[in-house]
Amino acid sequence: MSRVLIVGAGLTGSLCACLLRRELPNKVKIVVWDKSRGAGGRMSTSRSPSDPFCTADLGAQYITATPYYARIHSSFYEELLDHGILKPLETTVEGMMSKEEGLLNYVTPMGVSSIVKHYLKESAGAEVLFDHHVTHIYQKGTGWEVCRKGGAAEQFDAVVLTMPVPQILQLQGDLGSLIGENEKQKLEAVSYSSRYALGLFYKADVHINVPWAAKYIANNPCIRFIAIDDKKRNLVSGQCGPAVVIHTSVPFGVQHLEEDKEEVQPIIMAELDKLLPGLPPPDNIKCQKWRYSQVTRSVTDCPGQMTLLSKPLLVCGGDGFTHSNFDGCIESALKVFEVLKSSL
Ligand SMILES: Cc1cc2nc3c(=O)[nH]c(=O)nc-3n(C[C@H](O)[C@H](O)[C@H](O)COP(=O)(O)OP(=O)(O)OC[C@H]3O[C@@H](n4cnc5c(N)ncnc54)[C@H](O)[C@@H]3O)c2cc1C
Repeated sequence: MSRVLIVGAGLTGSLCACLLRRELPNKVKIVVWDKSRGAGGRMSTSRSPSDPFCTADLGAQYITATPYYARIHSSFYEELLDHGILKPLETTVEGMMSKEEGLLNYVTPMGVSSIVKHYLKESAGAEVLFDHHVTHIYQKGTGWEVCRKGGAAEQFDAVVLTMPVPQILQLQGDLGSLIGENEKQKLEAVSYSSRYALGLFYKADVHINVPWAAKYIANNPCIRFIAIDDKKRNLVSGQCGPAVVIHTSVPFGVQHLEEDKEEVQPIIMAELDKLLPGLPPPDNIKCQKWRYSQVTRSVTDCPGQMTLLSKPLLVCGGDGFTHSNFDGCIESALKVFEVLKSSL
C-alpha cells in the first residue's frame, strides 16, 4: 500500500484526502500534516477563548457559485447542502458586487471550517496530524523523506503540497534542485493579497444593533468588510453571544505587513470605532494576519496542479494553481487527484 503525505489541512488538502479515500480505498495510506493547531487553513473558524460556542470565520466568508461552477461542481454543492454544511445566504450583504448574473451565495451555519472538517471526516482512516510543520523534503530511493519542526522525519511514496505557493518555495532540502528553471519562474510569479482580520467575541446578553448582516466599506483606507458573523450565518442561538468579523483593506494589510499584530489591532479598533461608534466593547478579540490572503496572480499554463517530479511523485496544488475560492480549490483537488490516481 502506498503511503501518501498531503501537506495542508485546508480545503484543497482535505478534499484530496477525501477523494483518495473514496476512489482508491485499498490502495493508499493517507497522512495529512498541517502546521496549525486545527483544520481549515484560510477557511478557518475561530472560537472565543471564553465561550467555545461563540465562533467567527476570520478567512473565507461565504461561498459564491457561478452558473458554470454550480453546474460542473453540482455534486460537491449537493453533498454539502444535504449535510446542512452549506445553507443559502438569506441576509443582505451591503455593497456586495455581483459581477455575473445568476450567482448563488451560500453560508456555513457551523462556520466555514465545517466544510474542511467534513472532507477530513469523509477521509476515514486517514492520519490527520496538526502542529506538524514541514521544513525539508529529500528524495530517498523510490520515495520521499519529509522532515518537520521538532519531530522525526518520515518516509512517503508520494507527497502533495497544498500550501500557498511562497510557502512551497520556502521548503528546504531537494526541492530547489528538483524544480526546473521554467517551473521556478512560474511559481515565483504567483502573488497574493495581504490583509488583517479581527474577530470580536461578545457575551451572550449583548446585541449588535445594525440593519445589515455584512457590509463592504467603500473608500476607507483601513476597513474593507464587516460582518456580524452569527447573523450572516443565520444562526439563531440565544446560547452564545454575537461575533463581529472585520477585514482590512489590502493596502492597509500591505502597509502593516511586517508589524506585530499587537500593534496593528488597536489601529483597526480605532477605525472601527469611527465607523460603528456605538459598538459595545467585546469580551475577547482575535487578530489574524493573512500574509497570503487571496491569489492575485495564479500559476500560468498549469491548470489545477504542478507536478514537480513524477517518480517518486511530488505534486503541488491549491488555489495558487486556480483561483481563490471554493471552486478554485475543488478544481485543484480534482486535478491533483487525477495525477495521484494515474501514478499510484
Ligand atoms: C480574508 C480571506 C477572505 C476570503 N474570502 C473568501 C470567500 O468569501 N469565499 C471563498 O470561497 N474564498 C474566500 N477566500 C479564499 C479561500 O479561503 C481560499 O481560496 C482557500 O481557503 C484556500 O485553500 P487551500 O487549501 O488551497 O489553502 P490553505 O487554506 O492556505 O491551506 C494550506 C494549509 O497548509 C498549511 N501549511 C502551510 N505551510 C505548511 C508547512 N510548511 N507544513 C505544514 N502545513 C503547512 C497551512 O497551515 C494551511 O492550513 C478568502 C481567503 C481569505 C484569507
